[in-house]
Amino acid sequence: MIKITFPDNSVREYEAPVTGLQIAESISPRLAQDVVACSVNGEITELNRPINSDATIKLHKFDDEEGKHAFWHTSAHLMAEALQELYPGTQFGIGPAIENGFYYDVMMPEGVKLNETEFPKIEKKMQELVARKESLVRNEISKADALKFFGDRGQTYKNELIAELEDGHITTYTQGNYTDLCRGPHLMSTAPIKAVKVLSVAAAYWRGDEKRPMMTRVYGISFPKKKMLDEYLEKLEEAKKRDHRKIGKDMELFFFSDRVGKGLPMWLPKGTALRIRLQDFLRKIQKRYGYLEVMTPHIGGKSLYVTSGHYAHYGKDSFQPIHTPEEDEEYMLKPMNCPHHCEIYASQPRSYKDLPLRIAEFGTVYRYEQSGELHGLTRVRSFTQDDAHIFCTPEQVKGEFLRVMDIINIIFKALDFQNFEAQISLRDPNDKEKYIGSDEVWAEAENAIIEACKEKGLSARTELGEAAFYGPKLDFMVKDAIGRRWQLGTIQVDYNLPERFKLEYTGADTEKHRPVMIHRAPFGSMERFCAVLIEHTAGHFPLWLTPDQVVVLPISEKFNDYAKQVSEYLNANDVRTIVDDRNEKIGRKIRDNELKRIPYMLVVGEKEAAEGTVSVRKQGEGDQGSMKFEDFAQKINDEVRSMTENF
Ligand SMILES: [Zn+2]
Ligand SMILES: [Zn+2]
Repeated sequence: MIKITFPDNSVREYEAPVTGLQIAESISPRLAQDVVACSVNGEITELNRPINSDATIKLHKFDDEEGKHAFWHTSAHLMAEALQELYPGTQFGIGPAIENGFYYDVMMPEGVKLNETEFPKIEKKMQELVARKESLVRNEISKADALKFFGDRGQTYKNELIAELEDGHITTYTQGNYTDLCRGPHLMSTAPIKAVKVLSVAAAYWRGDEKRPMMTRVYGISFPKKKMLDEYLEKLEEAKKRDHRKIGKDMELFFFSDRVGKGLPMWLPKGTALRIRLQDFLRKIQKRYGYLEVMTPHIGGKSLYVTSGHYAHYGKDSFQPIHTPEEDEEYMLKPMNCPHHCEIYASQPRSYKDLPLRIAEFGTVYRYEQSGELHGLTRVRSFTQDDAHIFCTPEQVKGEFLRVMDIINIIFKALDFQNFEAQISLRDPNDKEKYIGSDEVWAEAENAIIEACKEKGLSARTELGEAAFYGPKLDFMVKDAIGRRWQLGTIQVDYNLPERFKLEYTGADTEKHRPVMIHRAPFGSMERFCAVLIEHTAGHFPLWLTPDQVVVLPISEKFNDYAKQVSEYLNANDVRTIVDDRNEKIGRKIRDNELKRIPYMLVVGEKEAAEGTVSVRKQGEGDQGSMKFEDFAQKINDEVRSMTENF
């Protein structure tokens, strides 16, 4: 008999060998039906793999992350099987599970191009294969046999992968006529995959290398129940409507120019207005919290980044150093603002009385991302951090965390992120060598973060081993209006840079001490934050923030002059107003401006011009009746004041 220990520490005895499935069956038939994979001694594996000695076990259903991973990864095999049947000669690259579903990188046979019209065919084939209830059969294979097997089938990409594997550790999995090189784990058969959807195709370089062949990446998702797929697709549809790239275009906020370069966002006047307003909002709060704003150049000398350690990190795989006519002179595009701020700290002698010193900058940084990784404003090559660095004594860390948390709270509240989570990343207590800084300072900072969260009533998940080598941190994640999670602000303690830059302050004891540095960015970056805000609000920004608050719509050209008069008055009274004086029917104007998500539309015609009034339409609420335009200006100002008086 062997002892199997469950996550709740209960123990059951079984005759060896026993499988995960048999263990599930011994608990309940229902569980045996729902379980998709298991973790044995912490390693995820198939349900039919024999367990021969005492072990810990965790049974995974589709609901948990590991379960989904096995489910989706098996679905990738299933899709490959379908592709192989439908398009003989298809070559396969890799097919992993991802956060939502799975993909397979494939090289389609000569003359075949996969596009949306093929998707239903692939889905139908997948369903047909599922109905065959094929088992996935694991097979250990020698390197030579593997190379021969895949070579005979023209699978050159698989052979490239095999060539890098160690002989004796190679396995294949076969279901039906399809054999894949894989380590697993998988479902025992494809039968539980009850609902599938091929979602999209994209071009992807083999192994992400721009010099290698361009393959087709086929994305899909699958579920154990049809209803789950329907719900997912509905959510996806909603997400599509909220896509910040589309809304950014509708609202004329930003665009990308091939000539300027990939991943380099260009902010249009309305987007710029939005961004400046967000920055001013944060500026105002920061001023209250004692931050001092600075400005630093977009480049920095090589030695700055050698000192900071960024040269080693960003030197090779990022933007290359800039050379000047002068020999041996090299500059780097700034990948972070921290080194510049360390120099500002070091520019004069500091005493304990100067601390905490809070240096803030809306600093633009440049980081190279592979073109396939770029996505709207969320993955870019140039972005502006709402950055600040706090230099303080170790005793001040907790107080500073509390203050930054206050700022983040004000922001989330003002922008209606009701739902947010925090994660505290601490050191791995079993691997202290990995981290720099003494035990005492780490303990002090880690406790400071934990206590600060407690004091604020913030429930935060604690993750051991997730801290950077140079200090613990606190991350904020928001849930948007349709339940997606986005990583936003971070507060990070850093013992490394003060050391590297030999930063000092004179203590009350007249001795020199090293300050602690705290990096913090409540928005994260302006680009990413704007993207999240657009998707959260679907472009319906709060009135105080939105680029245009009001559009005046004359019902015909005859009333353009009156419309201008109204607009001038409103603008003079701090209401951001534009006029739509195109020669279009009023219905068309209303529709077009609804798309631009301007909160108020003022329709003006004969009656309004004669009476000095406007007919008010509110976005999403329709007709609000008419009023004197002076009263309307007052109403908007009151509305904005009531929103902003708390920040
Ligand atoms: Zn696999
Ligand atoms: Zn920093």
